[in-house]
This record gives sequence, structure tokens and C-alpha cells, in this order.
Amino acid sequence: MALVDTFQRKIDYLRISITDHCNLNCTYCSPPFSGRTHQERREVLTFEEIAVLAEVAVAAGISRIRLTGGEPLIRNGVVELCRMLAEINGLKSLALTTNGIRLVELAKPLAAVGVKRINVSLDTLKRNRFTQITGQDRLAEVLAGIGAAEASGLAPIKINTVVMRGVNDDEISDLAALTFEKPFHVRFIELMPFQHAHCGDYDQMHMPIGEIIRQIPGIDQARVNPNPDNPGPARLCALPGARGKIGFIAPMSWHFCGSCNRLRLTADGKIRNCLFSNDEMDIKTPLRRGASKMELIEFFTSAVKSKPRRHHLNGDRQSKTGRGMYAIGG
Ligand code: SAM
Repeated sequence: MALVDTFQRKIDYLRISITDHCNLNCTYCSPPFSGRTHQERREVLTFEEIAVLAEVAVAAGISRIRLTGGEPLIRNGVVELCRMLAEINGLKSLALTTNGIRLVELAKPLAAVGVKRINVSLDTLKRNRFTQITGQDRLAEVLAGIGAAEASGLAPIKINTVVMRGVNDDEISDLAALTFEKPFHVRFIELMPFQHAHCGDYDQMHMPIGEIIRQIPGIDQARVNPNPDNPGPARLCALPGARGKIGFIAPMSWHFCGSCNRLRLTADGKIRNCLFSNDEMDIKTPLRRGASKMELIEFFTSAVKSKPRRHHLNGDRQSKTGRGMYAIGG
């Protein structure tokens, strides 16, 4: 089967959030620890439920799954969940997005059960700054975790850096230079206006992608490096002499909605047909009531049918910043 929406986009990628808990408290992502609330445990999908929905999604036309959160690696038994998902017939790729803290212990077992790729969020190489951004003095663990992922053969390792003016924009060239040492993909991401953020004034901190690009020494000589095997939101290039690649993800400056191939499943069992939308469809209730696989497939099909043409982060919905404000993960 194939999932094709009304704009002729083929939808074959599912992001599954497996927890809304996180062991970091990034200023641009979550409310301060004191203001956090979490979904009740009974509302969160069990591993068996996630596996059933993943299998149904694959039967409907999904071929790639990425686990995310919250922080996926803090959910107990995550390796077992990955083993269950990797065994699904027809699933071509199982990947994870993580802050890297638990990779030292988990990279090897994850690779052993079939996780193929890993994205690690890393916004700074400076210890104090890491503590300021994330609320935790744990940069050394993240760097060791990236090393463990590399040693476990997870490749390519993708580093995701959210660039914030006045916070880490002075490190763009240092982070880009990692691609000379390692075959990593270092991807610079434009800051998005998320509703839980406690980082300050969005308009002041958002740095358009054009400005980010201009900070990279040698970018004029970079080879553009399209990646047809792995279509995604990042535009890739390689600096002359680099082992790795540099990517740019610019949901605010460049709409990549025209080639969007994604759905999201939230930790509490809702399907979102736009990663940047809060509109959702409850699939947990029918699942828990014993709906058949065909009925559950229909949920994925109708989520795809109503997939919007584009996201609205740039502000057709008003907020205090005058832009759309969205929750991610969950
Ligand atoms: N805990 C995992 C991690 O740290 O990668 C997975 C969840 S995290 C929400 C997924 C990605 O969203 C990270 O790469 C993070 O940097 C990005 N993200 C979170 N808030 C963002 C924002 N306001 N703008 C841009 N990217 C954001």
C-alpha cells in the first residue's frame, strides 16, 4: 500500500514520540522544570501498543520510523522496543533522535537490535553554555555518547544544532569544522516558535538561515550534496576537504512542506499529520477498544488525506510574538 495525500505527496515516514519526559530542560523547547506537567502513565502508549500501531502504519505505507520524545532513551526498555519495531516486515529504516546522554550505555545494544541511524542534538561545544541552554552540566556525557554511537557503527551520525542569536551563533564555524574531523552531518536548524519555550524573545533570537550560512568559512566553495536516498528537510553540502556534510533545516525561511513525507504519533496515541501542528486524531481509543488492523489502517489513511498543504509557523495564527506557537513532541 502507499499513502499519498491530496497534494500528491507520498507519506512514508513516521516519527513516534515514546515519552514526553526529558532529562534536559532546553530553554527553546520545554517549560522550566518547575512548570512541567506530564501525561499520566496510563495515557501513554505501552510498547505493545506502539508496536501494533507501527505495524499498522507500515501496512498502510510507512517504510521509515524515527523514535523521538521528550528524550526517547530515558524510557525504560527502549532497546526492547527497538527490537520489536526492527522486526516489522517491510520497515526499511529505524532511527532515533536523542540528546545523546544515554548513548554511552545504549548505542551498542541499540545498533545490535537494528537501529540504523541516530540524530544527536548538540547546540554548543562549551560546557558552561551547554549548562545554560539545557539546565544540566552534561556536555561531557553527550560527547562521549556521540563517540559510543560512532564506535557502534551507527552512521552517518547527524548532529542537530538549533542556532540562536546571542546564544550560540558564535559557534557556527566551530560546529561546521567538526565535518573536517568526522564524517558527521552537522545540521543547522532555524529556531522555531514553540509554545513551551522559555528562552526569551523569539524575534530577537531567531536567526534566518541565510545569516547562518554566511557565518561558515569556505561555504562559497562548498559542493551542494543532494541526498536522493534519504529525502528530508535538510539541504546538504560539503566543505572542500571535509569528511562530513553540512545541512540546513529552515522551516521558517524555506518551506519544505512541498516535499513533506511525514506523520507524527504522539506518546499518548494521537496522530498528527503536520509535525508543526497541534491538530491531532486519537488512535489510542479505538486501539484500546479492540479495533481491527483494517480499521486502524483507515486512521492513517484519513490522517494523510487531511494533511495540510503547509505548516503555519510563520504566523497565520496569532500569538504573543505574532507568529504561530506550537508544541512539539508529546
Ligand atoms: N530529546 C531528543 C533530542 O534532544 O534530540 C528528541 C526530542 S527534541 C524535541 C527533537 C529536536 O527538536 C531536537 O533536535 C531539538 O533541538 C529540536 N527542537 C526543539 N525545540 C526547537 C525549537 N524551538 N526550534 C528548533 N528546533 C527545536
